[in-house]
Amino acid sequence: RIGTAALAVQVVGSNWPKPHYTLLVTGLCRFQILQLLKEKPYPVAEVQQLDRLEQFTNGHKSEEELGELSEQFYKYAVQLVEMLDMSVPAVAKLRRLLDNLPREALPDILTSIIRTTNQEKLQILDAVRLEERFKMTIPLLVRQIEGLKLLQKTRKSKQDDDKRVVAIRPNRRITHGSITEDEEEEEDHDDVVMLEKKIRTSSMSEQALKVCLKEIKRLKKMPQSMPEYALTRNYLELMVELPWNKSTKDRLEIRAARIVLDNDHYAMEKLKKRVLEYLAVRQLKNNLKGPILCFVGPPGVGKTSVGRSIAKTLGREFHRIALGGVCDQSDIRGHRRTYVGSMPGRIINGLKTVGVNNPVFLLDEVDKLAKSLQGDPAAALLEVLDPEQNHSFTDHYLNVAFDLSQVLFIATANTTATIPPALLDRMEVIQVPGYTQEEKIEIAHRHLIPKQLELHGLTPQQIQIPQGTTLGIITRYTREAGVRALDRKLGAICRAVAVKVAEGQHKEAKPDRAEVGEGEDCKEHITEDAKPESISDTADLSLPPEMPILIDFHALKDILGPPMYDMEVSERLSQPGVAIGLAWTPLGGEIMFVEASRMDGEGQLTLTGQLGDVMKESAHLAISWLRSNAKRYRLTNASGSFDLLDNTDIHLHFPAGAVTKDGPSAGVTIVTCLASLFSGRLVCSDVAMTGEITLRGLVLPVGGIKDKVLAAHRAGLKRIIIPQRNEKDLEEIAAHVRQELSFVLATCLDEVLNAAFDGGFAVSAGLERFNSKL
Ligand code: ADP
Repeated sequence: RIGTAALAVQVVGSNWPKPHYTLLVTGLCRFQILQLLKEKPYPVAEVQQLDRLEQFTNGHKSEEELGELSEQFYKYAVQLVEMLDMSVPAVAKLRRLLDNLPREALPDILTSIIRTTNQEKLQILDAVRLEERFKMTIPLLVRQIEGLKLLQKTRKSKQDDDKRVVAIRPNRRITHGSITEDEEEEEDHDDVVMLEKKIRTSSMSEQALKVCLKEIKRLKKMPQSMPEYALTRNYLELMVELPWNKSTKDRLEIRAARIVLDNDHYAMEKLKKRVLEYLAVRQLKNNLKGPILCFVGPPGVGKTSVGRSIAKTLGREFHRIALGGVCDQSDIRGHRRTYVGSMPGRIINGLKTVGVNNPVFLLDEVDKLAKSLQGDPAAALLEVLDPEQNHSFTDHYLNVAFDLSQVLFIATANTTATIPPALLDRMEVIQVPGYTQEEKIEIAHRHLIPKQLELHGLTPQQIQIPQGTTLGIITRYTREAGVRALDRKLGAICRAVAVKVAEGQHKEAKPDRAEVGEGEDCKEHITEDAKPESISDTADLSLPPEMPILIDFHALKDILGPPMYDMEVSERLSQPGVAIGLAWTPLGGEIMFVEASRMDGEGQLTLTGQLGDVMKESAHLAISWLRSNAKRYRLTNASGSFDLLDNTDIHLHFPAGAVTKDGPSAGVTIVTCLASLFSGRLVCSDVAMTGEITLRGLVLPVGGIKDKVLAAHRAGLKRIIIPQRNEKDLEEIAAHVRQELSFVLATCLDEVLNAAFDGGFAVSAGLERFNSKL
């Protein structure tokens, strides 16, 4: 039990990239443990000092023999040190030490410096007799010298570097607890060798292989504690993991694809047709090069889920890359490796995640890319999406080209307006409109409800949601183009029912229906109380009496709270000066009220409700047209004058002031609203309209007709005024929706006003033009 007494001189190290500390100690002498006094919290023992320098010189050893040994040792030591690079300060110092130190101390010092195993070091420590120590150390010295000679011979060109490595290494060996460090080092060394093997056997491109081999060479020479060590290693590991040549086999079969698409999605015929065409062309051409598909439509209409189905039909991996709010181009293209914490971009990361080089990548929300000081991510995407360029996509982190040509990119967006034109140019836009109520009911019953039941561990024997209830949720609890809110509401219902089912046969507490304010208590009431009107029709005799739990309107109200949307249309139109317009937003179509009022003033027009420039211009156009046609329609201001703005101010308001509105399509609505204000007549309560106007009173076509018509249909309106030239857009609308609505196709404002007011809007016989003052 021999140890070394030492003084700790310095502790250096850090916890990053992994805890790694170096303890610098100065060895004093050997000691022997006589008796262990205690072990915890740290060992304390009675020891006996073994080395005494003076003892060496005047000891009883045969001086002759020792002198010879020490002389021999000294010669070897000098030979070794002189083989090292003297320009390294540590080596020069060592050379001086050889002369200055007593010879007896040299074996200990040199053993700690030269390359020896731990076992050998321990043997030297255990050798208390000096003679023995010299004898054991000399072969080690000779071995080291031979090794160095060999090294110099074989790698002459690299001479300098090797010397330095040898020179650096000894210093690191003077450590306490060096056993674990050595093991770790060896382990790491093994890892590096493994890594090198992996690099050589991987199927990376020639260019990448060259870079990797260069990096691994650097890695081998780098001390582990250098932060760059971890960086380089991570880089190499990523390079090995990337699917350079690994791909899944496509199984493209159009008939099967049609079945998968139809099974996963109800309705959306146009989109499915286009996707099948796309896939059919790919099948015939046998590759997937071609335009990038971009699905554009309101949220929750199934854009992402169609992307997933495409991956399924092709048998490819699917990966979604959310681009909303990305404003740094290194998000796409990666950071250069010189930065601390640099990492590859999302494309390369995605490839690493899926592990094959031909996945389906869904670039979600490309319209929400932002620009910032860190560059324009849309510009970085250009390279990714261009089939001509993306076979050599270079991520800044990788710094070598990666072939993206096998990846199938699909993009989604809510609107094309904010997609940079250059990016839009590379994509084929497919519009995905919102759903009608009927379609939503079908989607709910075919897809959403079964999915929610499964998510909540329920079975159709436990819960029943009739179609009437679904319609109630759609009309009174949601107002959206897609089905996402509907899905959430169905989820809420399932949760409430799950509580009831889990509670099992707990029948004691039965709250009075009158007291029930919110929550699912009423359903309990309905089900457990077996109220005849709630479950009598559906109660299956073979099941416990309360199953299945029927969700009727009462239950709906208790679970989801009072209805959020009411049919407020007729109420709002009970005064002159209000009309309903149709607006298009990225979230789908919407109905929009336009309100006007007049007051004494100086002919000023006030507009409120966050309007854009185009909308303001429409308002001015509308007033000008009305003023110029005031006599014709017998429109007067409060004092009976045909000059509508004489002593009168007009205020136009577009409610929902928090939302910015712009676009020309409100023109006809503003005219109708003002005509109602000045004539004192009410606009029909079931009419909605859209269309751009000109100063001459013509009605010009506008966009988004399908979404707008669906919004009007959702809101329960019956008559819709659209520009004549938009007639072709009506074909896209489902037949049953068209049947429930009557369309007025207008070419001029006369026709609009005639259709908007009950009994038409009379034109006076004597036509006299009134010139505009504006
Ligand atoms: P988006 O990407 O358009 O915002 P998602 O694809 O995320 O919308 O769709 C939201 C949810 O609605 C998904 O769970 C999806 O399955 C469902 N869904 C949407 N449209 C349909 C449809 N036509 N048939 C079946 N499920 C649909």
